Amino acid sequence: MKILLATYNKHKLHELQSLIGNADIELVSLDDLGFNDEIIEDGNSFIENALIKAETIFNKYKIPTLADDSGICIDALGGKPGIHSARFAGENTDPQSKNEIIIDLLKGNPNRKAHYTCALAYVSKNEKFIIEKYCHGTIIEKEIGLNGFGYDPIFYLALFGKTLGEISLKEKNEISHRGQAFIEFKRHIENKNSID
Ligand code: IMP
Repeated sequence: MKILLATYNKHKLHELQSLIGNADIELVSLDDLGFNDEIIEDGNSFIENALIKAETIFNKYKIPTLADDSGICIDALGGKPGIHSARFAGENTDPQSKNEIIIDLLKGNPNRKAHYTCALAYVSKNEKFIIEKYCHGTIIEKEIGLNGFGYDPIFYLALFGKTLGEISLKEKNEISHRGQAFIEFKRHIENKNSID
């Protein structure tokens, strides 16, 4: 079964593709379709933004569409950057500089708690299906690890005694916000046995 994935983000595509496993799902990205228009994500929540992306693409191509909206929420920053994670400190600021800004903002603050959120929205002719999942951790004082992307090198998981930047993609997929959401989506599609 063919499902359109409403993302331009190569990292997300890579993570989701590695999660498909032997499920009968073929993910087709916006790049594969040559879709380059900007989708204005002006929702107030991860779920609203994921739905905006999935509905926009489904309405255009009429192919079942999956969209993800995700971000990091830091307790000491009142949940920021949250839905603005990609744009935090400016869209063109590189990930390492964003991480340095967060390290600076939290300097001396004992509250290091943070979580990633992932909302997945699936839109087809007969269905809208939404899932939201989380991955909890803490922000450390320097970047460690070259794996993952974005905020992963400063996101520490007590369970592994490592950052998300240090663990393998397979390990990340088992516990991450996106991994958990996609596994539930896959279960939903498999139980339905059809994608219309
Ligand atoms: P979106 O493309 O609007 O959903 O923006 C997601 C942004 O949240 C990314 O650009 C990253 O900055 C951040 N983010 C979401 N998931 C992850 C992750 O698994 N690791 C690191 N950063 C993430």
